[in-house]
Amino acid sequence: MRQLDRELGMHAAISRRDFISGVALAAGGSLLTASPFACASQLPPDYYPPLLTALRGSHPGAFEVAHALRDGKVFGSAEDLEETYDLVIVGGGISGLSAAYFYRKQYDPQARILILDNHDDFGGHAKRNEFWQDGRMYLRNGGTLNVEAPSQYSTVASGLLAELGIDRTRYYQGIAPVKNRYQELGLQRGTFFDQQTFGRNFLAVGVGDKPVAEVFRDAPLSQKARDDLQRITDSPRDYLPGLTPVERRERLSRISYRDFLVEMAGCEPEVARLFDPEVMGLFAVGTDAIPASYACEMGYFPGFGAMEIAPLPESQLVGEPGGQHGRENEERANRGDPDLYFPDGNATITRLLVRSLIPGSIPGSSMEDVVTARADYSRLDDPAQYIRIRLNSTVINVRHEDSSTVAVTYVNEGASCRVRARSAVLACWHSVIPYICPELPAEQKAALGDGVKSPVVYTSVLLSNWRPFVAAGVSNISAPGSYHGNVGLGTSLRMGDYESGQDPDQPNLIGMSRFPCQPGLSRREQHRIGRNDLFNTTFETFERNIRAQLNDTLSPYGFDAGRDILAITVNRWPHGYTYSYNPLFDPEEWAFTTTDARPCVKARQPFGRLAIANADAAASPHTDAAINEAYRAVMELGR
Ligand SMILES: Cc1cc2nc3c(=O)[nH]c(=O)nc-3n(C[C@H](O)[C@H](O)[C@H](O)COP(=O)(O)OP(=O)(O)OC[C@H]3O[C@@H](n4cnc5c(N)ncnc54)[C@H](O)[C@@H]3O)c2cc1C
Repeated sequence: MRQLDRELGMHAAISRRDFISGVALAAGGSLLTASPFACASQLPPDYYPPLLTALRGSHPGAFEVAHALRDGKVFGSAEDLEETYDLVIVGGGISGLSAAYFYRKQYDPQARILILDNHDDFGGHAKRNEFWQDGRMYLRNGGTLNVEAPSQYSTVASGLLAELGIDRTRYYQGIAPVKNRYQELGLQRGTFFDQQTFGRNFLAVGVGDKPVAEVFRDAPLSQKARDDLQRITDSPRDYLPGLTPVERRERLSRISYRDFLVEMAGCEPEVARLFDPEVMGLFAVGTDAIPASYACEMGYFPGFGAMEIAPLPESQLVGEPGGQHGRENEERANRGDPDLYFPDGNATITRLLVRSLIPGSIPGSSMEDVVTARADYSRLDDPAQYIRIRLNSTVINVRHEDSSTVAVTYVNEGASCRVRARSAVLACWHSVIPYICPELPAEQKAALGDGVKSPVVYTSVLLSNWRPFVAAGVSNISAPGSYHGNVGLGTSLRMGDYESGQDPDQPNLIGMSRFPCQPGLSRREQHRIGRNDLFNTTFETFERNIRAQLNDTLSPYGFDAGRDILAITVNRWPHGYTYSYNPLFDPEEWAFTTTDARPCVKARQPFGRLAIANADAAASPHTDAAINEAYRAVMELGR
């Protein structure tokens, strides 16, 4: 039954701030008309976007100029700021910030560098959500989550993290006392079956810990689905008899995991649906749009136990950025140190980068003290510094004026402004580059437009207490039919002065993730549809769904959305994960080798005094890709 807004607490006084004093960040066309703050520069001292709640990520004000450019808007003549730099970088994500770091290190410690980004905060996808309650700070990632498979990081990427002060041994020692907090309380994984999809609300607890038959005994699934689930988990068969291990692998790369489960293993479609949330967390599409071989390589999806399946040859993809995500054997990809997760995710990396690039911008000197340090945004665009970061600035044109000068035009608060540089690194999303850089060859523009980034939503919700999770016995809930496919308590952490919520009767942050898509279509098409869905969804709709889902799932355990929710931040990323190749929709060669035939290689070729970075240049949605590509781009520029 649909819950009333009153029951959901839709009008409760929670934090829904989306405005910083002094700088208008409100939605709409205002960003396309000039304001008195135009073109510049120093932000007011109370400017602190990590505190903003409601719609973040691709927030109102971040995308209107770029979309207008895409739609053919002609911007008025630009004011020449008569600023000249050694390097202008388009995009202030991990790749853009790393490019500044490498350029300074490689070529000139006094290089003058300007970084332009369209968002109101630096970091690109690696953003920080900061909440305060009763004088205490609560942190969560607003996008990029963790350093995955750090032992696989290249010398360049791991070297950068080490130079920034990230000490893996100290990290693991620091979190050790609290990292098993939820397990110590007996909390396990759960699956929530919602009434609208499955006929009644039901929370199954103990997924992965207890026998499948026990966990799902009372779940609203058909008897056949329950039996199928148990069969493929406990006693799978060889569904591809007579094939060699290599032939099996090839066959499983040409069939989706859903079709493998339903058509080869004879399962009910409901069974495949149960795995969608987890698959989406990795690939931003469900079981219908990833090959069965990816599920097999991940190592923990059921159905493959009785078949000998050849892994990818050692030489291919090993050490390529980003854990494995189905492209190489789980054991091989995850050998070495476990993932690192900082309290604000990989915003810690961006903040350490900014601290290094702009002295005085973020106080302190260690990876521990950066966690609670308050960044001084008024220092980011300081003419006295060698390196400057200019926020709220969407680049609309990059072109060579002559063989030694690049002119970069951007829109800030509605005004067009122009700066010059000896070189530029385009560390922004590849789909944007053809619009801002018309002089590129047509073939390169086509390659830049090949990948479609995945729409992703990471929602942070601050709760007054998390006792209902303890009462239910869950720390993480997969929800195959619900608005957010995953709900989980924030990672239990301690770093320096910071500690995540440890007492179930005190506040804690939870994360909820959503991957809008349209099963049955190609992966690219699903991403396009999901992206439109995100752009057209209001915060009110998100909020209502968040409240209803949490009530449905946890009210039997004492949760009340109207009483227990203190703040909500919806980090919406319509252009989220980099598109990675997939043998269901792309040539196998692109997915399983590092061939130069891949569009990402054609897309990232340097052009004159321009070099192209971003994780998109590696077709890999990972932090190490962003760093590696920054290094390559900087090396291509030369001095
Ligand atoms: C929700 C989410 C979670 C993720 N989680 C992980 C994870 O856990 N681990 C991991 O390794 N990777 C993760 N990733 C992948 C992530 O994309 C990379 O880790 C990395 O942060 C990408 O950095 P980047 O600098 O290449 O791109 P971005 O971070 O996207 O930065 C590019 C910047 O350029 C800006 N830009 C675009 N056009 C213009 C323009 N015209 N003018 C000015 N600026 C422009 C963009 O707005 C953006 O701010 C995640 C991604 C998302 C979206």
